[in-house]
Amino acid sequence: MGSTSTPGRLTVISGPSGVGKGTLVASLLQRHPGLWLSVSATTRAPRPGDIDGVTYRFLDRERFEAQVQAGGFLEWAEFAGYLYGTPRGPVEDHLAQGRSVLLEIELEGARQVRRSFPDGFQVFIKPPSFEELERRIRGRGTEREEAIQRRLGRAHQELEAEAEFDAVLVNGDLDQAISNLEELLNLG
Ligand code: 5GP
Repeated sequence: MGSTSTPGRLTVISGPSGVGKGTLVASLLQRHPGLWLSVSATTRAPRPGDIDGVTYRFLDRERFEAQVQAGGFLEWAEFAGYLYGTPRGPVEDHLAQGRSVLLEIELEGARQVRRSFPDGFQVFIKPPSFEELERRIRGRGTEREEAIQRRLGRAHQELEAEAEFDAVLVNGDLDQAISNLEELLNLG
């Protein structure tokens, strides 16, 4: 588990699949180059636009599990049938260098990080409504119906957990959400 006495700041961005976490985080990184986003490992297949080593490190289940056994993940979780995890080393290195680190992860992972980094800041991103979330997930057009149903089911559970977070942000209007997030993270 991670140390709590690192000089950098750890921020977790969580919230249901399809809520727009990725878009928000990408805008934030573009506007604040000092931030560093952890690249997660996953066993899911790449989608169009995914680049191995950039959007995710794509691993087969065997290699992912070996990395779990070796203690190589800061946190990991199963989501909609696939494994996702935050490689420990790069996060610890960036924090030790005093960098601000962002993790964009689902609820179970956020809970694990809360235990290992109680001083971290955790933001929950929620949609204006469940109907809007479903519209966004379907609108992406990247998942089959079965995967969409798994993600929607999980979204119901995740939305019940918003009170666990340090801050909750509604992602309705993107520009507004970015500026609210900047304010929450004191990015000015
Ligand atoms: P997607 O398959 O849509 O890229 O991601 C599915 C979910 O997994 C999203 O909610 C995303 O935030 C989450 N996720 C991505 N990387 C990680 C990770 O390293 N750990 C955990 N726990 N969740 C992750």
